[in-house]
Amino acid sequence: MIVLKFGGTSVGSAGRVRDAARIALSQASPRVVVVSAASGLTNALLEAARAAVRGDLVARDAALSLIHGRHDQILNGIESELQRKLARNVLNEVHNGLDATLDEVASIGELSDAASDRIVATGEKCLATLMAATMRDMGHEAEAVFTDSIIATDGRHGAARPDRAVTRENAEHLIQPLLDAGITVVATGFIGSGPDGATTTLGRGGSDYSATLLGAALDADEVQIWTDVPGVLSADPRAVARAQVVPEISYDEAQELAHFGAKVLHPRTIRPAVALDIPVRILSTFLPGEPGTVVMREAPSERIKAVTALKGLILMTLDVPELEDLAPAASAVFRVMHEKCVEILNVSQASSRRRMTYILDAVTGGCANLQLLLETELDELDARIACHEHVAVLAAVGSGAAGTASSLTRMLTVLNREKIAVLAMNQQTSSVAMISVVNEVDADRAVAALHNAFIRPVVSRSHSRRRRRTDLLSESLRVG
Ligand code: ADP
Ligand code: ASP
Ligand code: MG
Repeated sequence: MIVLKFGGTSVGSAGRVRDAARIALSQASPRVVVVSAASGLTNALLEAARAAVRGDLVARDAALSLIHGRHDQILNGIESELQRKLARNVLNEVHNGLDATLDEVASIGELSDAASDRIVATGEKCLATLMAATMRDMGHEAEAVFTDSIIATDGRHGAARPDRAVTRENAEHLIQPLLDAGITVVATGFIGSGPDGATTTLGRGGSDYSATLLGAALDADEVQIWTDVPGVLSADPRAVARAQVVPEISYDEAQELAHFGAKVLHPRTIRPAVALDIPVRILSTFLPGEPGTVVMREAPSERIKAVTALKGLILMTLDVPELEDLAPAASAVFRVMHEKCVEILNVSQASSRRRMTYILDAVTGGCANLQLLLETELDELDARIACHEHVAVLAAVGSGAAGTASSLTRMLTVLNREKIAVLAMNQQTSSVAMISVVNEVDADRAVAALHNAFIRPVVSRSHSRRRRRTDLLSESLRVG
């Protein structure tokens, strides 16, 4: 069986929902289709929630009318009156639930994480309903499944961690029988539920993760991520116009790219696929004939394949007066980070054994808050914390190449030539990626310069007269 996931832009209008349905239905069954909310609607739902807290009825209504308008437009693309009516009934129910939660939030004057999850989940629920109805309208048996009944999580609202064993049991009981009956299952991305049954979400962009979680739970042969770019590119195309498709990357490379800012994959997407060796393909709904990128265990590599940047981070250093103070001080830092759910992206220790450097996700209150949190913990150890906000991590990814002295030298030379201050530098996961920390304001310039230095432009081969122009055109978007 296969799992196909369609992101927000791929289901943003009636026409796009139909195109996505056509792509899914043209593939062999059994198949599970995972959908995100229509593009922009998760943000609109959050805006409605914030407006409700403020008691701002005008802003709440504006956000809701955007949401209803988009869902109605997709609903009206369904030709069969019966399917339209059935879908409208479910949509009304979901929208009524949304109104009730917004009223609740307004009356308390506060947005709890649990209410926020319940509110944003409605975007995916409406899209799954609309996609299944569109497929039935096209003459295929399809059923929407809301994955708060399938993906079991630890209940951490906004960034829930899945329980794979329970998810597998749920999928076996609730999805497999539908697949066995020849029905295409349309599942909500992004959503799970906690031990108390409350709806949870897997973090922004989490529908990619839902796709591989369901793929692993159902022993999929392949997971396809259908999006608005023709694969994993050598850089974010919004930052580097001549970014090219990478045809093959390894699980390790994809994970590094996703962790360090390549938004095309949610950072946790690859993990569930690794254990079962499930290939993950990234494909474009706008260019469905293109081969895209395949992510698999081993992928040929002898050079840097992609460059990426993750902004909005914190660089924190911990200094202790004596070598033996480092372990207790570092363990106190890790404990506080764990308790406060602060993600640590990278840690390195100076060879003096008196300093640790941490790259952290942004935290509410920034450095001032971090310092406050750690002050009491570190008081007795006489440790010093220094903290930089607004930093970015640059990552150059390509197993083999990223570990070589010549690549590291080239990275530093390029950044030096661009007069970009390097705040820290490191290698990741047995030389799959090399990373540098720079000030956020320099990140885009650094990515462009590193891309120029590391990614060989395929178009340069057009000088070879023996190659046919059509071959060159089809290769011009590919690298690797
Ligand atoms: P979807 O809504 O389909 O989940 P996203 O917006 O989450 O799509 O992810 C696709 C976007 O990721 C692209 O439009 C692109 O701007 C961005 N992106 C960032 N880095 C990369 C990269 N290295 N390769 C491809 N896309 C990237
Ligand atoms: N709709 C959710 C978001 O915008 C999940 C996703 O798109 O993957 O974050
Ligand atoms: Mg996404």
